[in-house]
Amino acid sequence: MTTPVYENFINGHFLKNQTGDTFAVKNPATDEVIYHVEIADEFIQNAAIESAKQGFAAWSAMTPIERSRILLKAVAILRERNDELAKVEVLDTGKPWQEAECVDVETGADVIEYFAGLAPAQVGQQQMVGNDFYYTRKEPLGICAGIGAWNYPLQIACWKSGPALAAGNAVIFKPSEETPLGAIKLAEIFIEAGVPAGVFNVVQGAAEVGQWLTANPNIEKVSFTGEVGTGKKVMASAAGSLKDVTMELGGKSPLLVFDDADVSQAVSAAMLGNFYTQGEVCTNCTRIYVHKNVYQQFIDELKTRTEQNIIAGDPMDPEVNLGALISKKHQELVLGYIDKGIQEGATLLTGGKALSPVSAPNGYFVEPTVFVDCKDDMTIVKEEIFGPVMSVLVFDDEDDVIQRANDTHLGLAAGVFTKDIQRAHRVIHQLQAGICWINSYGNSPAEMPVGGYKQSGIGRENGIETLDHYTQTKSIYVGMSNIESPF
Ligand code: NDP
Repeated sequence: MTTPVYENFINGHFLKNQTGDTFAVKNPATDEVIYHVEIADEFIQNAAIESAKQGFAAWSAMTPIERSRILLKAVAILRERNDELAKVEVLDTGKPWQEAECVDVETGADVIEYFAGLAPAQVGQQQMVGNDFYYTRKEPLGICAGIGAWNYPLQIACWKSGPALAAGNAVIFKPSEETPLGAIKLAEIFIEAGVPAGVFNVVQGAAEVGQWLTANPNIEKVSFTGEVGTGKKVMASAAGSLKDVTMELGGKSPLLVFDDADVSQAVSAAMLGNFYTQGEVCTNCTRIYVHKNVYQQFIDELKTRTEQNIIAGDPMDPEVNLGALISKKHQELVLGYIDKGIQEGATLLTGGKALSPVSAPNGYFVEPTVFVDCKDDMTIVKEEIFGPVMSVLVFDDEDDVIQRANDTHLGLAAGVFTKDIQRAHRVIHQLQAGICWINSYGNSPAEMPVGGYKQSGIGRENGIETLDHYTQTKSIYVGMSNIESPF
């Protein structure tokens, strides 16, 4: 059976590369190649820049309200095609249909809708200075690059293009080579909605294509989602032409469960924050600190619910709530961490092995895995695993647990479960993380800014402030009287 070959999406249409080089994309749940994609060679790269220049000229000349109207059409199409797009995401990522169907497309559309609504409201300042005055304009940056990870491919493409396009920029987007189709679908939808050709281009390939984007002097900004180590390379490369950067990187986020917490709710949060999208979520609370008074109750309920309520299998089956990891290589990496946890003395409460479900026997599954009696210096407690592996630790003192929770170079997210409202705020204010939840975990509405402290990131996505990151301020001084000159 022949599989489709997708070309790069440049200037409003598919464009064939000259080298003929392609890469294969596999369905993680079946280990089968589902399509091929052409790699962006030099011809495509040059075409992408030219196209984005033209796209930028047309798009930035429109008023914000005109751009908003067009983007809202794209939002409507995204929602109409929810199921078709959700299926693309399931086949590319291996995540369960029951998630993609209600989260991936929806949260992407929400963000474009939010910024489409916000853009016309973005205003400059005006101030009198004696008889003269100045005013400011919020102008777009120009061509922005987006580089995405593989866990939420369409959502990431929407989260990056939403504010960028609303502010009047053009975008060249590179999805992960593991999950390239969602961004192509978005590019087609933008064209259908009336976004001019060249405003949103998709280039395909691995790190080399990303490196080309970060080094290219025609590009003004890079918004990157991926690992901390890659983020550092991207930033170093972007510095060569002093590009603005937004970095959405990894985490090793703590969840603190106090002894007055609703323990069942805390277990729900811990499971959501470790097993949703089979653990491949950047904000996951992979370090769960539980107060000693409720520790046994917490782990008993956690074990029961993990063993009884999780269904792994063909991700398209609506009953399945644990999908396949993105690749064989990643599955091996996650299993390697599990081995390390055992070697370093953590107690395996449940899980720990690869899974081969009857309905998807060749998929890259890993059992939902919980380690208890973990210590702060264990590798599984310190490093991001990005799979369904939870570490549970015990504490008995508030100040001490805050210090332990903060003892990491990462700072993406954090959570607190307690019924004591004063403690909830007191503790969360001391946690060094950019995205925090009290008696909740994981929700990320378009209105709320998200991004990391410390090495988890720079800048924010979503929320009002993000629009500023896609504009630059032009100050214009207006003389109202004769110039006083010594010359
Ligand atoms: P990677 O850092 O491996 O890759 C991210 C993207 O960067 C991919 O498109 C990749 O291409 C590309 N890339 C790789 N090397 C370079 C380079 N030198 N220059 C430019 N681009 C490059 O991350 P993953 O895809 O493995 O994603 C998982 C990571 O993403 C986790 O650490 C996770 O925490 C983080 N993440 C953070 C989020 C946040 O909002 N904070 C959200 C989601 C994930 P290719 O893959 O094609 O080689």
